[in-house]
Amino acid sequence: MSEGPEVKIIADKIHNALSGKRTIQGILHSNIDKETKSKIIGSSMEYVKTYGKNIVVKFSSGVYLRNHMMMWGKWRIHDREEYDLGSAKSPPRYAYREKKDKNADEIQIKKNYVTDVRQDTRVRLTLITVDKVLVQFNGPILQFSLDDPAFREPIKSLGPDGLSGNYDKDKVQAILKFKSKNTNMLIANALLDQQIISGIGNKYKSEILFLNKIYPFKKVISMSEYELNKLFVGIPKVLIYGYKTKGRTRPTTGKEKTLRDSPHWVYRRSGKQCWICKAKIVSEKKLTTRITFWCPICQPA
Ligand SMILES: [Zn+2]
Repeated sequence: MSEGPEVKIIADKIHNALSGKRTIQGILHSNIDKETKSKIIGSSMEYVKTYGKNIVVKFSSGVYLRNHMMMWGKWRIHDREEYDLGSAKSPPRYAYREKKDKNADEIQIKKNYVTDVRQDTRVRLTLITVDKVLVQFNGPILQFSLDDPAFREPIKSLGPDGLSGNYDKDKVQAILKFKSKNTNMLIANALLDQQIISGIGNKYKSEILFLNKIYPFKKVISMSEYELNKLFVGIPKVLIYGYKTKGRTRPTTGKEKTLRDSPHWVYRRSGKQCWICKAKIVSEKKLTTRITFWCPICQPA
């Protein structure tokens, strides 16, 4: 599961692995035409950018690669030597937990390991340089093009990116106003609409609403200008914090019982005590498109 901050962290890793004008020596992809392949081999990375949850890599030969990982994609970077020797290990396979798990959203459990990444059937793309090998698992979206995907759908219609230096909260509010007009749109669902604001996924949705003391099932049309303004001014801070701390939304206090329980305020904390008011965190799966976690005392209806 990759939301804006996590996608940006991965984009940085891709950038670092391809930096220094490393030439692409090989590419493995099941669905690539000969011409595109020959254009990528021998070229190097010009830039890596993120747009919400999309990663765009531009190669010096003019080819663009767009990747959207949805909830399943991942990237791994290996040293070329260990890859060639067969000692580059595959990430563990995951299976979804049973639905009765109250914290189940896209919680996954480790299943089994494939030892050699070259044999892993989940691999969708491999980029080979002189000393690094970039392996992409599960796609699901990997598109090559000669025109910039930033000017095509779906990137073209994305709302302002909360992690971008050009983030424009007035534009977010204008789109939100337009889309929620005469609707029962809930604020929790609005935050997940990438055409309103891009980069927020299910984790940041719950965390952002908690940090703003907003009841997740509040209708957008019933919210005041002040409340919406405060919410959208504060969103970049939460996303940037997550980017800088590898996905945390909450600083540690030193009082946490286990490290595993410490990174978030409400996300995946059903039944646990609120860090602020000690009430039990609750979750709801039916009112919103994805499971929502919140504190009934800190975020009253
Ligand atoms: Zn609370």
